[in-house]
Amino acid sequence: MRLLLLGGTSEARELAALLVESGVDVTTSLAGRVARPRLPVGKIRIGGFGGVPGLRAALADYDAVVDATHPFALGMTANAAAACTDVPLLRLERPGWDPDPAWHYVDTHEEAAAAAASLGDRPFLTVGRQELARFVPALDRHEALVRVVDVPDLAPPDAWRLVTSRGPYALDGELGLLREHRADVLVTKDSGGTYTWPKMAAARRLDIPVIVVRRPPGPEGVPTVHDVRSALDWVTGLRARR
Ligand code: NAP
Repeated sequence: MRLLLLGGTSEARELAALLVESGVDVTTSLAGRVARPRLPVGKIRIGGFGGVPGLRAALADYDAVVDATHPFALGMTANAAAACTDVPLLRLERPGWDPDPAWHYVDTHEEAAAAAASLGDRPFLTVGRQELARFVPALDRHEALVRVVDVPDLAPPDAWRLVTSRGPYALDGELGLLREHRADVLVTKDSGGTYTWPKMAAARRLDIPVIVVRRPPGPEGVPTVHDVRSALDWVTGLRARR
């Protein structure tokens, strides 16, 4: 059983470890976006496939695919759904956070930027490096604290302060950061999971408003599970039927 695991998430790393333990020949695919990715066990390939045609060609080497990419990795998820016509595909997507009535949900990063501009002067932006350009028009004069894993290509506005770091984070550190910056609004994607949850707990504790960018809809017609154990069961079930 040769499995292609589209990764870049903690769930993909956990699943790779379980699959290797159960003797599945697993190759994790990473986009190659971050300078020093956390590497899973098992085989690894790095870099894009070259769209749907490239992925389809690569699938000749695999018996099944699990798409465990981030809930906001829209392009990869759409490509997997389009390319896997003859190869079984499972989507593993961690659940979003349980909504809090105090959170402001928006559909786009532009809406998030506008909402942040109206709710505060000193936003804390935790939306990822690739989305930052979408925040510049509304927030270029705001004293934003911007947290990213790697330094963005974009030259940030003078008023912004950039910090580079990578989760998982702890509540004490998040409380310290929000207090030190005197942040008055937090902006995040609905990433879900535990790695970045402490900022949400810290904002709640400090009574800071939170703007949450809603998830895009999942791929249509692709079986989807929400935890690593269920993904493991799907792979082992397929293997047993082979
Ligand atoms: P994306 O917009 O969905 O993908 C753009 C292109 O990058 C894809 O078409 C594909 O190129 C390549 N790509 C993406 N994920 C890949 C993978 N796992 N293996 C090989 N190629 C991949 O992706 P993104 O939002 O930039 O995310 C990139 C990676 O970071 C993903 O693996 C994702 O799990 C991880 N990540 C994303 C976020 C986020 O907020 N978006 C957060 C944490 C981690 P080709 O068309 O050439 O195949």
